[in-house]
Amino acid sequence: MGTETNWTLGALLEWTAKHLAAKKLESPRLDAEVLLAHAVGCKRIDLYGLRHAESATPEIRTAYKDLIRKRLEGCPVAYLVGRKEFFGLEFQVGPSVLIPRPDTEHLVIEALDVIKKLHEPRVLDIGVGSGCIAVALAKNHPNVQLTAIDLSDAALKMAESNAKKHGVDGRIRFVLGDACKSLTADDQYEVIVSNPPYITQEEMKALPVGVKDYEPHQALAGGADGFAVFDRILDEARAHLRPEGTLLLEIGSPQEQRARAKFQAYVEYELGPTIYDSSKHPRVLKARRS
Ligand code: GLN
Repeated sequence: MGTETNWTLGALLEWTAKHLAAKKLESPRLDAEVLLAHAVGCKRIDLYGLRHAESATPEIRTAYKDLIRKRLEGCPVAYLVGRKEFFGLEFQVGPSVLIPRPDTEHLVIEALDVIKKLHEPRVLDIGVGSGCIAVALAKNHPNVQLTAIDLSDAALKMAESNAKKHGVDGRIRFVLGDACKSLTADDQYEVIVSNPPYITQEEMKALPVGVKDYEPHQALAGGADGFAVFDRILDEARAHLRPEGTLLLEIGSPQEQRARAKFQAYVEYELGPTIYDSSKHPRVLKARRS
């Protein structure tokens, strides 16, 4: 981006997309578009239509340059623009929460399939983060009542704000806590869901910079073998799952066999077939409380 004047938004976009491609970013054009639309305060599509020939003001150029610099340092686009789409809904995100992943939509689909038959199901979401799972469930079932737990107060605030944004905060109870520790014996659920931190210590070292240096460690790291939180959920959820209730857990695809074996150790769970994501990787385990 030179200092000469009269850059149109279109030209700025083309230049930046090429620049990001040369820097080997995974989705250079998309990143260039999303960040320019953010700097301009317009829709991505308008950069090709309405505003293509408009000249970029010095303010826009400065803001854009700053975003591009941070992107090249490794900051994920979702944090730069403060939002991410999940299950057709827009979520506010920031460094205190994991960026919602499309893989997790499979867990939501399964949970909806279970609760659609129930009139006023109670669902527990352990590790609510941005609130993507809980809010997506509340938006897609008119009477579901949710309890959303997180260890991080900042994450709970973000989840609450996302619930408000989507008008479902009245049906979600937010609880600060460590797995099921702050629940009482009266807290009983038809469905318990979680996308727990499941990255192993070894895998943590090899994560891309954008994940390792920007996303919350606590939301990713599952201890030495990746099962630290998983094991606790399996153990603690038994006391809060109603008979015939369903436990749905997202897993790391290389963990499938070990994760399934862990279920076999409990008489309380009847494990169903593994659910695969769109890349055909094992992604969600589903068990019924017998
Ligand atoms: N429930 C949130 C999500 O699925 C956060 C999960 C987490 O922090 N591990 O994105």
